[in-house]
Amino acid sequence: MIQLYIPLNFLGVIYREIKQSLADMERLFTLLDQHREVADAPHAKPLAVSGAEVKFSHVDFSYETKRQILFDVDFTIQAGTTTAVVGHSGSGKSTLSRLLFRFYDIQSGAITIDGQDLRDVTQASLRRAIGIVPQDTVLFNDTIEYNIAYGKPDASKDDIVAAAKAAYIHDFIESLPDGYATMVGERGLKLSGGEKQRVAIARTLLKNPAILIFDEATSALDSRAEQAIQAQLKEIAQDRTTLVIAHRLSTIADAAQILVLDHGRIIERGTHFELLAAGGAYAQMWERQQARKEDATASPSGGIDS
Ligand code: ATP
Repeated sequence: MIQLYIPLNFLGVIYREIKQSLADMERLFTLLDQHREVADAPHAKPLAVSGAEVKFSHVDFSYETKRQILFDVDFTIQAGTTTAVVGHSGSGKSTLSRLLFRFYDIQSGAITIDGQDLRDVTQASLRRAIGIVPQDTVLFNDTIEYNIAYGKPDASKDDIVAAAKAAYIHDFIESLPDGYATMVGERGLKLSGGEKQRVAIARTLLKNPAILIFDEATSALDSRAEQAIQAQLKEIAQDRTTLVIAHRLSTIADAAQILVLDHGRIIERGTHFELLAAGGAYAQMWERQQARKEDATASPSGGIDS
């Protein structure tokens, strides 16, 4: 009996490992569009994070040789502050987050975290330092507990519950018949967009990264859920270096810095009020969005980048 149990147990471990790897790959491909291997440099060191200042210095980038996507992109996210990027669809916003993860190498310029060039640090340490709350969270076909713990595989149940509470999803989980053991994902309980984002927030809280990327969903949640999520994000962005890829200007009005990207170039930068006062592209986007809001109570999507 024991003899039979050990191999079965072992098979269980292997099954879980494979499933985890597939889920990892699925997550990577779906959310981050990764396609090319970037290797660690032979001299690569672990990233040493102090304040987590992020700096893009004169970055040029193309996915393919023929078409340049970013042109001389130059900005600093001061340690512990929030920078939001806005711009039309295809202007290059998500590309910035892919470059920060170093899914691609840039053609010229440099990207540094606390002065360390991303090309000189190990990718594992880089990815440990960055958490992302993506536009559309993919849940693994597993329990809700597993889905939260994914942020930190060795997390204790207490840590998981604390993260779920902080992401305001604990009460919802407790109300499910199987609680934290409820199966979710494609073959389990389907969660709403807001609930899925809360799982992603809990996951990120557990990971506790120094740098946070929040890729705002293009389609708005209903406005109450949206406001609640925004309030939570503000809390977790507190004291973290945060890059928000924004689709709705109303959510980023208090960012320390807003960058307006247009065809891969930063055309304006400043705070919400500075940009409104400047009366340029941002001010026009803001006006358009306000106007849309007024006559869009019936269809609350209101993106800026369509
Ligand atoms: P959206 O608001 O629609 O998400 P975005 O501003 O985030 O758009 P990016 O996803 O950064 O835009 O894309 C910028 C440009 O790079 C687009 O023209 C896009 O077609 C191109 N692009 C994105 N990913 C790839 C890729 N893997 N290979 C080639 N080109 C790509």
